[in-house]
Amino acid sequence: MTGQHRIVVLGAGYAGLTAARALAKKTRDTQITVVDGRAEFVQRVRLHQEAAGQSVKRLDLRKSLARKGIEFIQARVTDLDPERKIVAIDGEWTIHYDTLVYALGSQADRHAVPGAAEHAKFVATAEDVTELSGQIVIVGSGPTGIELATELAESQPDSPITLLGSEDPGAWLSPRAHAAIRAALTRLGVEIRSGAKVVEVLPDALRLADGTLVPAATTVWTTGFTVPDLARRAGLAVADDGRIRTDDTLRSISHPDIYAIGDAALMTGVDGRPLRMACATAIPAGQYVVGAIAARARGRDPEPMAGRYLAQCISLGRHDAVLQVVKADDTPTNTVFTGRIGVVLKELIVRGTAFTVGLR
Ligand SMILES: Cc1cc2nc3c(=O)[nH]c(=O)nc-3n(C[C@H](O)[C@H](O)[C@H](O)COP(=O)(O)OP(=O)(O)OC[C@H]3O[C@@H](n4cnc5c(N)ncnc54)[C@H](O)[C@@H]3O)c2cc1C
Repeated sequence: MTGQHRIVVLGAGYAGLTAARALAKKTRDTQITVVDGRAEFVQRVRLHQEAAGQSVKRLDLRKSLARKGIEFIQARVTDLDPERKIVAIDGEWTIHYDTLVYALGSQADRHAVPGAAEHAKFVATAEDVTELSGQIVIVGSGPTGIELATELAESQPDSPITLLGSEDPGAWLSPRAHAAIRAALTRLGVEIRSGAKVVEVLPDALRLADGTLVPAATTVWTTGFTVPDLARRAGLAVADDGRIRTDDTLRSISHPDIYAIGDAALMTGVDGRPLRMACATAIPAGQYVVGAIAARARGRDPEPMAGRYLAQCISLGRHDAVLQVVKADDTPTNTVFTGRIGVVLKELIVRGTAFTVGLR
């Protein structure tokens, strides 16, 4: 690259930090700026541990990025003008870019049903998390709901914890992994209510589709993540859920100076299916995008990203976990690691993600 080409990375989560750090290594004569509303990188994949009262390491973004020669601006991104190539932070149009890497992640789906925003708690972002205790009903039997239920049940054995969802916890995995998850929840005393559809959250209960009221001193809503509407407002091509539509090199299909990675992007995998919102997607995308940007800077066409998976891993408290080996398209195989080996593998993976973004 020649002159002071400016690459601005929006969002210092798993995707944005991975990209920014690799860009600093791979590009020359380039000014790299990272913008995030937080001063610290928070390990989102451990937020259920924070909710259970555990203290989890965070990373000082300014110091860590300065060591790599990367400028860090702590501010909220409030608008984007892709025609003028300028970003507004805290309401002021101030940051120009030549290339933009959009990695603003996702957030809780607060408006999934009436009453959720007012009466439920969430564990999707660092700002959401509070220490949880007492009688708790967790809505959503996906990975976040399972991890939170087991973590809370283990650290507060006297608190009644219910995990409630339309699907049985772990049913999307292999029969062995599914059984291991059910066994762990049962061993920890978590009440499992499957086949239940919540239609409203009340101050002290949940209303199900069949009219049943489920008492809940605290409701925690964990189903699905949504993305901010910034990209849509900016006029970028987005999917129905607001994620930025990308080509097979993670470039916005409407604005080629913008790359989108992580939860905020709609990326497709080996079989053309959308990749899931996951750290396991965000980090490879952050690594890939740097190669694509560098290749284009040298006037070459980058190879398409091969979005493939290796495993899904779910912690079941601090003493148990499931690591489900998957095919490249994320469908489960018969290989599953549980118990102590599962814990070691899951912990190695989570530590590996932290290491990638600079947390030692
Ligand atoms: C409890 C929990 C457990 C999880 N466990 C796993 C797991 O085991 N495996 C797995 O693969 N995935 C897991 N995930 C999902 C994973 O955390 C996300 O998919 C991943 O964090 C996405 O990375 P990202 O970089 O796209 O977004 P994020 O990590 O969310 O980063 C986005 C960044 O953008 C910043 N930002 C957002 N909006 C603005 C704005 N307007 N202005 C400035 N800054 C902004 C945020 O502050 C944040 O730092 C888990 C999630 C949760 C909540």
